[in-house]
Amino acid sequence: MANFNTHVTVASAASGLAASTAAYVGLIEAMDAAWYMFIGVIGGMLPDIDADNSTPVKRLFTFLAGLCGVSVWTIFAPFLESQRLLLAAAVGFLLVRYPLFFLFQQTTVHRGVFHSLLGALFFGLLAVCVNHYFLHWTVLQSWLSGIFLVFGFIVHLCLDEVFSVDLANGRMKKSFGTALKLFSYNDATASSLLLVAAIALYIAAPPASQLIRAWEMAQWAKVDITNGQSFDVLERSGLDLLSEFNVNPGSYRR
Ligand SMILES: [Zn+2]
Repeated sequence: MANFNTHVTVASAASGLAASTAAYVGLIEAMDAAWYMFIGVIGGMLPDIDADNSTPVKRLFTFLAGLCGVSVWTIFAPFLESQRLLLAAAVGFLLVRYPLFFLFQQTTVHRGVFHSLLGALFFGLLAVCVNHYFLHWTVLQSWLSGIFLVFGFIVHLCLDEVFSVDLANGRMKKSFGTALKLFSYNDATASSLLLVAAIALYIAAPPASQLIRAWEMAQWAKVDITNGQSFDVLERSGLDLLSEFNVNPGSYRR
């Protein structure tokens, strides 16, 4: 199984390349590329959130708690005076960081229902809704964030699957097939609940028509791989982005 650092490094490289490509074809604004890359990295950490006490879980819950604090602040700012607002944001932060984290640890098994394509869909749609309704991003930005999150998530699942192939002995490790799955096959209840939650989020999310239009209008011909030139530009912009984040592309290791 790939470790935390490997996941972050690979997710950074993959999301960096994806964000540069998206900026290059005009799907996203160049100045937003770093943000989408960041979302891709978060997506690359999410599948392992059910591994009890692992570094990513703690960091992720601290991040989510921070996000909750900021959301509470944004929502209640017009109604509360500053001291109460600060208190409400602090309560929002602590609730997510401790009781919710504890509950989460108690109820999940590693590589369970979240470590799946259904999990990717759920978190992607959750990102769309949170970005649009709580952080007040535009419909297009919210959907693109969801797409980048799903992208990083799937990169993680594929990487775990790659690591389950024992190259030296040319055979599959026991974990093969547990990383990249459609949903959790041995927990039908959890899978059904997650599916219902994903459907509910899809219904709640703003319509995706802007995303479809932007996708169709993007100049995909610029990254036609039969044209060698476009690859050079991509590689250069990808490396620029990585160096901005102090990620050394050569640091990929097992
Ligand atoms: Zn994993």
